[in-house]
Amino acid sequence: MDCNRREFIKVTGTGVLGLSLLQLGVDITPVQAYTATLKTTGTKEIVTVCPFCSVSCHIVASVRNGKLISTEGDPEYPINEGALCAKGAALFTMTLDNRLQKPMYRAAGATRWVEKSWEWTLEQIADRVKKVRDKDLILKNDKGQTVNRLESMFFIGTSHADNEECAIAHQMSRGLGIVHIDHQART
Ligand code: SF4
Repeated sequence: MDCNRREFIKVTGTGVLGLSLLQLGVDITPVQAYTATLKTTGTKEIVTVCPFCSVSCHIVASVRNGKLISTEGDPEYPINEGALCAKGAALFTMTLDNRLQKPMYRAAGATRWVEKSWEWTLEQIADRVKKVRDKDLILKNDKGQTVNRLESMFFIGTSHADNEECAIAHQMSRGLGIVHIDHQART
């Protein structure tokens, strides 16, 4: 029988367990019924690539009825051999409905967070960034050399931004003259 590593583990693992329980006289019918609800039952496995850094670990995405139900490291990919760092392991959490869907704003001195629209929030950010940049942009250094440097603003990225989002954020920051930039795109 031809089978890959994942299928081999599945077959031998369940086969050995079933044989042992049967030998002990245990009725495994309820167990078999339960396995019908497990995440691997009725799912299609799609191999994809973690988007969070250039290591590009492979991830097995399980899809049932067109819905993503789990992600885990691909044991057959030689680079990560089934392992994922904290960012890759948390990939599935990005798809959960209980994540915040709208910006929350807490005004200076206020104690409560208030839900705001994306339009309002982006306008606020753009307005404040422009005011600070207009005030603080350093055009030339002490030697008269052009530097176009903005030292009063700091850009920090999130671990849930993918490679492409990081590239765009980096270009935008440099375009504004920001020199203080950090991001958790390190493993
Ligand atoms: S972020 Fe982690 S899991 Fe994703 S590719 Fe990089 S090392 Fe692999």
